[in-house]
Amino acid sequence: MTNNVILIIGAMKDVELNLLLDKLDLKNVIEEKSCTFYEGMLFDNEVVLCHTNVGTINAAIATQIAINRYNPKAIWVEGMAGGHAKNVHKGDIVISTGVINLNSIKTKYLNEGEGSDPFSWELKRYGHLPQDEESIVIQANDGLIDFARCFENEFINNNPSSKVHYGIVGSGDVWNKEVDLIKHFSDKYHTLCEEMESAAVFQVARYYEIPVIAIRGISNNEVYGETYERELGAKAQEYVLCMLKSEKGR
Ligand code: SAH
Repeated sequence: MTNNVILIIGAMKDVELNLLLDKLDLKNVIEEKSCTFYEGMLFDNEVVLCHTNVGTINAAIATQIAINRYNPKAIWVEGMAGGHAKNVHKGDIVISTGVINLNSIKTKYLNEGEGSDPFSWELKRYGHLPQDEESIVIQANDGLIDFARCFENEFINNNPSSKVHYGIVGSGDVWNKEVDLIKHFSDKYHTLCEEMESAAVFQVARYYEIPVIAIRGISNNEVYGETYERELGAKAQEYVLCMLKSEKGR
């Protein structure tokens, strides 16, 4: 199977894939139970836009099916995220250097009546292969990070109040609105933001050694009382469109 396809993954079709679908020269649509694949050409690139629905399990299913079907040359997972770090605001972009699975937790022993202590929970790497590695971070592909970096200026010219950040994306089936817990993750694990798909996509992609990167637009930040705005799903798509315009030239 040739591997010319860029697989672009988004959880919510109406706000995280709408701009890309508008530009796609659509050739074929394939529906599975929890996901839909839109095959076509976008700025001369062979692209599959994959609508996963929300959450890590849906994201894992969709990524596995897409790998079997398309053998993609790269996987870009895009969409929204909630800001964790102090300087990360609504409308900003976070490019992943790596992803941490916020679902992968070991607690300390507490006896009956001793309650629960989330601040002492340890994030682990349950299920990541290879199992002999220590780091809980699943790394993004260096070449893709360098490539994404090339479009920072173009994006900022179009969005002068936005910033582009590079760092760790926290990911799990959790929407954390507790500022102290958000700060804890940011201080201890250096998360810049949190979302609900990349941990799964990264883990599956790494099994197959397919280059993977996450591009997330910040839609909320509880630390600053910046409430969720789902229309900000446009931002990561705008960044992806900048990348696609020149992908062919690589
Ligand atoms: N039902 C709402 C929210 C869906 S869940 C809606 O339809 O708009 C939020 C989605 O955005 C997830 O796919 C997740 O990846 C991302 N997301 C944005 N902000 C988040 C946050 N603070 N925590 C976790 N996920 C967030």
